[in-house]
Amino acid sequence: MQIIIFGAPGVGKGTQAKILASKLNIAHISTGDILREAIKKGTDTGMKAKAIVETGGLVPDDIMGGIIKDALKEDRCKNGYILDGFPRTIEQAKILSAILNELKVEKLTLIKLDADDQVIISRLSNRLVCSKCGNIIVKSNYSSNFNCPVCKSVDSYIKRKDDDEEVIRKRLKLYHDTTSPVFNYYKDKAEIVEINGTESIDNITKNILVKMGKG
Ligand code: ADP
Repeated sequence: MQIIIFGAPGVGKGTQAKILASKLNIAHISTGDILREAIKKGTDTGMKAKAIVETGGLVPDDIMGGIIKDALKEDRCKNGYILDGFPRTIEQAKILSAILNELKVEKLTLIKLDADDQVIISRLSNRLVCSKCGNIIVKSNYSSNFNCPVCKSVDSYIKRKDDDEEVIRKRLKLYHDTTSPVFNYYKDKAEIVEINGTESIDNITKNILVKMGKG
């Protein structure tokens, strides 16, 4: 099963992608996570991407194409995958089409999550992320000596550099200008599942699975 999860930054793609990957037994490929890991490790790609990611820009398409090509060849993708954060440009969508052609993938599902910019700005500016496992919580639930409910690390929650309000506005503008046209590219190439992203996490998962015929 091959799925793209699509929508604005902060709409909940990562949260739903993790849940769906585990329920459907497929790999979760998050290009944001891959880039943040490369930045942490200081690899060549990480060094090229650092300033771009931290200021809310888009990493060049050729670098992203290479990352996806490598990721999709991994063993964990054998049973299928959910792509989270890719493609973000028409050029990236074309790169993906070429890879999927080569891999003889015929059926693609695109899940689009929708929410207004105001909801997104408020969510992103109020979230903290576990620096060890990536789990997300709301800032007001955090206090010192906080134990991560997922990986149990203590005091591991940080604000992502790109979750600063000015950077969030730039990421949203890039989404509207550059990424949202990618949706039209897929209208006749994928099964489209459109979902309201402002409901509870559980309801969104249920709605996605029902619309995909897996509920
Ligand atoms: P969000 O969806 O909340 O913006 P991500 O974790 O998906 O966060 O991505 C974080 C950052 O990583 C993006 O703002 C961008 O700088 C970079 N990035 C991730 N995926 C891509 C991509 N496909 N093309 C270009 N840049 C990307």
